[in-house]
Amino acid sequence: MIIAVDGPAASGKGTLGKRIAAHYGLNHLDTGLLYRAVARALLDQGKTLTDEAAAVTVARGLDFHNLDETRLRGAEAGEAASVISVYPGVREALLQGQREFAAQAPGAVLDGRDIGTVICPDADAKLFVTASPEERAKRRWLELQKTDPALAYDTVLADVRKRDERDTGRAAASLKMADNARLLDTTKLGIEAAFQAALGLIEAELAGKDLR
Ligand code: C5P
Repeated sequence: MIIAVDGPAASGKGTLGKRIAAHYGLNHLDTGLLYRAVARALLDQGKTLTDEAAAVTVARGLDFHNLDETRLRGAEAGEAASVISVYPGVREALLQGQREFAAQAPGAVLDGRDIGTVICPDADAKLFVTASPEERAKRRWLELQKTDPALAYDTVLADVRKRDERDTGRAAASLKMADNARLLDTTKLGIEAAFQAALGLIEAELAGKDLR
């Protein structure tokens, strides 16, 4: 079974993806980490994010099983990831690995921006998780406060809007809801309520396909 969870930055899709995977006993891949890892490696090598050829080389050699999550979280890597993720060569280099991950038994939950539209168009269930930019900025701000108490909410909101613009405006695999995805707006939902709502949508989808 493959479940696709797409949505904009800080919508809650990562947390939901993880919990959905645990619930069904599936593997989980946060595909944002792949783009973050490519960007991080470029910066570590002293290259600029505009060096498309170098980004493609890094993406081709990326080891999906060796992603240092603690180094890849954080606003800087996220912002850098959204710059290199516009390169079609980078997306192409990461495509096969994501599909192979999804195909491994017993199945997987992948979360990202283009899982339901490009990576796994035949996924058994597709969710598009969203929330208002203000709510997403608030969540991210509260999280970042722990490490950066001086950070202003407005700065985070501007960042969220910029990232949305880049992710929805790019030519290759832009952020959009798949035609057959189910929409989950988490603006007014806490994580537990969002998780229950996600399960409800997935169960409805699976029941319709007679997979349950
Ligand atoms: O989800 P996360 O915020 O970690 O993703 C970081 C960036 O990586 C996104 O802003 C987006 O530009 C890019 N990304 C992507 N396709 C995915 C996952 C992430 O382009 N499937």
